Amino acid sequence: MLNTEVLVLNSGFIPIRLTSVKEAVCLLMSEKAIPVVEEDRYVRSPSLAIRIPSVISITNYSSLPRKRVAFSKLNVIYRDDMVCQYCGKRFTIRDLTVDHIIPRSRWESLTGRSMRDGFSSWKNLVCACRWCNSMKGNKLISEIGWFLPREPYEPEYMPHIVITLEKAQKRGWLPFCSFNVKLIDMISSNTPAGII
Ligand SMILES: [Zn+2]
Repeated sequence: MLNTEVLVLNSGFIPIRLTSVKEAVCLLMSEKAIPVVEEDRYVRSPSLAIRIPSVISITNYSSLPRKRVAFSKLNVIYRDDMVCQYCGKRFTIRDLTVDHIIPRSRWESLTGRSMRDGFSSWKNLVCACRWCNSMKGNKLISEIGWFLPREPYEPEYMPHIVITLEKAQKRGWLPFCSFNVKLIDMISSNTPAGII
């Protein structure tokens, strides 16, 4: 129970991270945070009982933590909004991959750059469904008459927190999830690595 997740808001009620009940209770006890949503259950010690928080707000922190968007396959998929950049359809995570626009076998001869120089980067990766990915193989899109809807780019901002819709509903977090949170509707039962 002490490891159950709690949504942490800044003082402007914008979600900034998740924490455990244990840490949330410490923040409440030391008056660094106030409870926003509480459960009907209690954490008890010999001397006191505290209602288990589900959402807390840090009282003296109003900004958002700055951080560069980490380069990862999952974040490439989120950058492209879970839409295959080749066929334009949206898929669930289970059916999505990332595709190297310039394939491995062509990179060095086409770009004159080593594999370590940009091959696996924001600019050479797009979200692609499994079918388009295997259709494309090691060809260039110009060779098969495909095109990209936009140039792939390094995103400047992405939501800090990725939460499944199911969890947000269950824990009473939904009213706070309009900004800085990406809600994922997990239609599939496969939870990809990296999703909280
Ligand atoms: Zn596709």
